[in-house]
Amino acid sequence: MDKEFLRLIADLYRPLDRLGPGSKATSRQALALCGLPETDKLAVADIGCGTGSSALFLASELDAQVTAIDFLEPFIQALEKRAATAGLADRIEGITGDMTALPVQPESLDLIWSEGAIYNIGFATGIDYWQQFLKPGGVIAVSELTWRSATRPKAINDYWQTAYPEVDVMSAKLAVLEQAGLSPLGAFFLPHDCWMEEYFRPLKDRLPAFLADHPDNETAQAIADEQLAEIKLYEQYGRYFGYGFYIAQKMV
Ligand code: SAH
Repeated sequence: MDKEFLRLIADLYRPLDRLGPGSKATSRQALALCGLPETDKLAVADIGCGTGSSALFLASELDAQVTAIDFLEPFIQALEKRAATAGLADRIEGITGDMTALPVQPESLDLIWSEGAIYNIGFATGIDYWQQFLKPGGVIAVSELTWRSATRPKAINDYWQTAYPEVDVMSAKLAVLEQAGLSPLGAFFLPHDCWMEEYFRPLKDRLPAFLADHPDNETAQAIADEQLAEIKLYEQYGRYFGYGFYIAQKMV
């Protein structure tokens, strides 16, 4: 990806707490399904952590050391600032790195967490690659674009088939997990407020200041237009697609 584009993306999102659909309530729901012990020093990785909402959540909820990985350094800097403010700096290590080359030992993690990020390398590729870093019995919790049912209007079907050909129904995503040697512990759809209130509203509020900071910048304008188009698409067709949250355990 081009450097100027990534610089602008980082600038747009850096002040935001959440860079994709989700909420504390649904993170809590997913964590409950993980069934992790409460009193072990757990080894946790948050992959594609963005500015750190899940890493902060996991560090405060679990007795854990959280490695938070993202390839945009400004996000890791924002995360480290938030961790320090929350008094969680000693439990979170931010690493600027790529999710296709994790700086982690094989079979070393109790929990892999990733919200709204695995699509960057594709669900099947990501699951296959990441599961080797789980200890036997370790758990993965990951959210992924998913059709809400077997049929939908052609317009939205064609849109996502082009933009993200791996889009599929929940049963197909569960089959991917099973084929990678993982046993599903649960799956659920994020409710609409995880999109509208938690993600899109702060993003929409941020756009005027972002554009004012980059006057006459065509790339910035194109990024803002794309975000608005995505919001519109969800408003119009969000009853047909959403984010599934998948929780699965590596077979012992
Ligand atoms: N989990 C965060 C961020 C989701 S947005 C949240 O829910 O708020 C997706 C994140 O994946 C972005 O922060 C982006 O920088 C990161 N990302 C994209 N491709 C990546 C890659 N190849 N390696 C590491 N991080 C990547």
